[in-house]
Amino acid sequence: MWQAEVRVDLDAVRNNLALIRRGTAADVMAVVKGDGYGHGMVPVARAAIEAGATWLGGCTLWEALQLRTAGITVPVLAWLLAPGQPLHDGVAADVDLAASSQSGLAEVVAAARRVGRPARLHLKIDTGLSRSGALPADWASLVESAAKAQADGAVEVVGVWSHFACADEPGHPSIDAQLANFHTALAVAERYGITPRVRHIANSAAILTRPDAHFDLVRAGIAMYGLSPIPDRDFGLRPAMTARGRVMIAKRVAAGQGVSYGHTYVTPTETTLAVVPFGYADGVPRAASSGGPVAIGGRVRHIAGRVCMDQVVVDCGDDPVTAGDPAVLFGPGDDGEPTADDWARVCGTINYEIVTRFGSARVPRHYD
Ligand code: PLP
Repeated sequence: MWQAEVRVDLDAVRNNLALIRRGTAADVMAVVKGDGYGHGMVPVARAAIEAGATWLGGCTLWEALQLRTAGITVPVLAWLLAPGQPLHDGVAADVDLAASSQSGLAEVVAAARRVGRPARLHLKIDTGLSRSGALPADWASLVESAAKAQADGAVEVVGVWSHFACADEPGHPSIDAQLANFHTALAVAERYGITPRVRHIANSAAILTRPDAHFDLVRAGIAMYGLSPIPDRDFGLRPAMTARGRVMIAKRVAAGQGVSYGHTYVTPTETTLAVVPFGYADGVPRAASSGGPVAIGGRVRHIAGRVCMDQVVVDCGDDPVTAGDPAVLFGPGDDGEPTADDWARVCGTINYEIVTRFGSARVPRHYD
């Protein structure tokens, strides 16, 4: 074991993907942006394909091109495209591109003309997230322009898609409203002769709770990594990431001793402090200061004082801790160790952010 390392259980990724597939008749897109939510984009993409994912979602063009460079040939959708991106590289690499506006569509068309082949296009409708996507008022004219570009041979409209705002809150009224808007947008597209091969709107939460939102393709992110998109709901997923290391030094200190920068924590009694080599450069949120859980010697103890760049200090009480002992920040929870959900609770964030942060380039990553 390295002094600090992240282990990724690719069997868990495969099993989670299989569980998702059992719950839907739609094709599955594995969402591998953010370096595979910190798990490693290319290894996760390969595991997901082995388990039956037929699409990848890479978000940026750069991510999509990296997947192609790795030799991955399944359809890849890049959806986060600011103006002026080298979209021709995407078209040449057979990357599917998203457009939400007339100017976005014009860029895709120009890229296709430059490469000399139709671009694979996914038109995005903003059904209520108010992020990217065309507003309903602009949708008909965007669809009309895309239909013309398709007739000219510049694009193939492969997809029409959208994204939920509140799918992680089952019963939230916006879910039904967004679905209704999506159906309307699809009907408008059809009026202009656009019948996409894939209609897609469902993220993990919708995959697990709203089969009526699956359409032809679902986009699975957090559930594939084994974490629940809905806090406190257990869907039988298996967390794929474990963050662990070794105690660097353990020492007995007196009561009343200030610990770490700023002395924000003062030892309440004589105690054993263990220094663990994970800091904010490795993904530990500074919000985990005085509270982040760490399992050492089979017991869950807590970070004492401020998280440093490279290390944290854990108050181990009277536990018999010595240098070299394993320290587990989080894992699947099988041996009583904390989970990414525990860390999210302590840090006031979501499990997505915890695992994505721990995928920091500095931490060696190993695959089981
Ligand atoms: N689709 C889009 C457009 C996204 O931005 C994301 C991630 O945020 C996903 C799908 C996957 O979401 P989740 O990880 O909740 O499955």
